[in-house]
Amino acid sequence: MTADHAGRAEALTHHYRQLIACRSCPAMQGPPVHGEVVISPVMMVGQAPGTREIQQGRPFCWTAGKTLFRWFESIGVDESTFRRRVLMSAVCRCFPGKNPKGGDRVPDRGEVERCEVWWRGELELSRPCLIIPVGKLAIAQFMPSRRLDEVVGEQWRFRVAQGLEADLIPLPHPSGASTWFKMEPGRQLLERALGLIDSHPAWHAIRAEPRA
Ligand code: SF4
Repeated sequence: MTADHAGRAEALTHHYRQLIACRSCPAMQGPPVHGEVVISPVMMVGQAPGTREIQQGRPFCWTAGKTLFRWFESIGVDESTFRRRVLMSAVCRCFPGKNPKGGDRVPDRGEVERCEVWWRGELELSRPCLIIPVGKLAIAQFMPSRRLDEVVGEQWRFRVAQGLEADLIPLPHPSGASTWFKMEPGRQLLERALGLIDSHPAWHAIRAEPRA
């Protein structure tokens, strides 16, 4: 590990300490959830945790996570490797509560804006080459809002900071409530997106065995 890498890992630890103390959104249920301290060439950005994630303090630890990790396992990275080697972030870090019409409430604009500081901070510390936004709300943070079938299955570019860009490969949300990725054209577009991730050099680095 280089001194720069170690310094950024230390800064990320400090960032997480501040994140878990955040109580900026009165309607959100915490404590805020974060992934492991990983400075990685790959960053995944989810939407918001559910109740199980809040209870266990781990992102994607329940049913949607099972589907998501099955997708990644199909391209050579199992759940434990993913958690240790990919920076796991999200648009919002607390549980938004239930939507009376079913499913979880979508965070409102103020909550999304207040929470942006956390994923932005992680993005700037990790400086990934590949960003994987998962679900419409996450994708909308990186590109103008469009339909899933217009963005999934393609690779895009995102300007992280002055002089620093990353590739962007969006995925649909793996929620059990979603049927998009189970039917055409979603099924094929998901397969194409996973193929793009599989052939990306940053994914190869995640998949490679660590040097002894
Ligand atoms: S959703 Fe984000 S900004 Fe709002 S309280 Fe939770 S961590 Fe803080």
